Amino acid sequence: MRKVRKVGKRKQNGKDQGCKDFPQFQKDAELELLIEDMGIEGEGIGKAGGLIFFVKDAVLGDRIRAKVIKMKKNYGYARLLQILDPSPYRVQPCCAYARQCGGCQIQPLAYQQQLEFKENKVKNNLERIGGLSPNKITPIIAMEEPYFYRNKAQFPIQKDSEGKIIVGFYASHSHAVVPNRKCYLGMRMDTTEKILDTVVSFLEENQIPAYDETTGTGLARHLLIRFGHTTRQIMVCLVINGKKLPQWEKLVEQLQEIDGITGILLNINEKITNVILGTETVTLWGKDYITDFIGNVKYQISPLSFYQVNPVQTKKLYEMALKFAGLTGTETVWDLYCGIGTISLFLAQKAKQVYGVEVVAPAIADAKRNAEINGIKNAEFFVGRAEEVLPAFYENGIWQSSTAQQEPQDSIEEGANRQVSKEMLQPDVIVVDPPRKGCDEKCLEVIVKMKPERVVYVSCDSATLARDLKYLCREGYEVEEVGMVDMFPHTVHVETVVMLSHKKPDSVINVKVEFGEGEGKVPLDNIAKRAAAYKPKERVTYKMIKEYIEAKYGFKVHTAYIAEVKRDLGLPMYDAPNAVDKLKQPRKHPTPEKVEAIKDALKHFEVI
Ligand code: SAH
Repeated sequence: MRKVRKVGKRKQNGKDQGCKDFPQFQKDAELELLIEDMGIEGEGIGKAGGLIFFVKDAVLGDRIRAKVIKMKKNYGYARLLQILDPSPYRVQPCCAYARQCGGCQIQPLAYQQQLEFKENKVKNNLERIGGLSPNKITPIIAMEEPYFYRNKAQFPIQKDSEGKIIVGFYASHSHAVVPNRKCYLGMRMDTTEKILDTVVSFLEENQIPAYDETTGTGLARHLLIRFGHTTRQIMVCLVINGKKLPQWEKLVEQLQEIDGITGILLNINEKITNVILGTETVTLWGKDYITDFIGNVKYQISPLSFYQVNPVQTKKLYEMALKFAGLTGTETVWDLYCGIGTISLFLAQKAKQVYGVEVVAPAIADAKRNAEINGIKNAEFFVGRAEEVLPAFYENGIWQSSTAQQEPQDSIEEGANRQVSKEMLQPDVIVVDPPRKGCDEKCLEVIVKMKPERVVYVSCDSATLARDLKYLCREGYEVEEVGMVDMFPHTVHVETVVMLSHKKPDSVINVKVEFGEGEGKVPLDNIAKRAAAYKPKERVTYKMIKEYIEAKYGFKVHTAYIAEVKRDLGLPMYDAPNAVDKLKQPRKHPTPEKVEAIKDALKHFEVI
């Protein structure tokens, strides 16, 4: 399954007028296609009349009938009408909404082929964008039971055409809600359904309007649910477009009847934005965080902090990052984009010292608390952008954390005037785990300057990963190993971990030599003779040959003639491999007189 390169675009005054070069493929034309490949978004790819068509919901190996919906110059988009011959890789999706819902893109593809698709996607991006063909790519780590894995769900709340409240998931590339309370990727489906039923009836009974994106009116926007995989704790957080929720006590009372809920929160988001959560959270009841374990490390997670959504696979991902870091207990490690310190604390168990950097202040507050509850003393955390914190320490010896986003007042004091130790500036390992857009170039630039022995790059987007690896490889690093973990079964996403090491200078051999007389010793008077014999010969250039001939014979010879004589003599042509072709009249050959002069010069310079 290859990823297909995005082919050329043609603007047609903003209007999609169909393809003039291929009239048979106008909009609404029907075609039969064999799906031979899959695109990065999981769409099927088939060819007709020399053109490529992308068809959502078609699976590799399907023979289908499709209707053209949009034409570009040399490719088009079509809608799946009918599966004529189903692919051997096609499976029946569990979810009745798999086709409409934007959450799963490849649920009808057998899990083994999903894994192959992801491996190929990573390899292709590394090759095409990064120019890299790593020697060691280990097979993707699959999930044993690839359902019910998500520890977090964010349900949009809307009203339907009849004014009834609906919850579910956005359809693909749209903000229209596909009503669904049973997601096969979500953990604890029954409990989720109970929570959703309770919240929807509370909103209806109390006539609390759903938020309307188009007008910015209404109150209930989203419902966020977080589960602790190992602790079974549940956090419920209602996102509202306002400061207060009428009758909130009733909601708390009703939710408390559901087993496992340890915290009920309100998040305030009054902005007209696609960002789900606002910055302010109010606790209505219980705890404002949930607790979970990854391996033997305990984490407290607040609603605003990033936490990997698939806890079973996260453990495998972090174990891979730890293995790639190659820690022995003596190393200084920077963990950039550290979130709540998950990777940092995992690494701290095997490192001498870990420094974590993260832009979201509440996540750093979680990270510090997490270090504390685990009794980990060798991890220190800084709020700020990686591309600002790292250069500030490296170039100015200080980080003024007041420049960070969302910085609470108390940690300004704490972060300022941090004394820089030599150790901080000489990391042995730098781990990066950036968001989809990858690392800022300034961050990469300073990583290169700090010259850690290893860089471990954890990535959720292999395209930006490949771009950043290209930079690091140009600046003295090489890719040692690539691993992948399937964190998001049934979607097109994949998590990749790459281990890079700093290129060493060419290896050095130490030889012990003793001079003088006797066995095993090198006699001194022999050294001069041997040195003379091994002395590299002076490099003979075309210019030297020309000058010799002009001085001795009084005529000039063209470079191409020298080259021709050398070639006839079977000599190597390093200096002017194409010189023969440079002759203005290429069929002319040197006269016998010139050939003799050239041979004489070559003898003179001991070339022959
Ligand atoms: N390593 C963590 C978090 C990875 S997600 C884990 O495995 O849980 C990426 C994190 O980078 C998020 O927490 C996000 O808030 C943070 N982030 C985004 N841009 C950043 C930047 N420029 N500098 C530092 N952190 C950033």
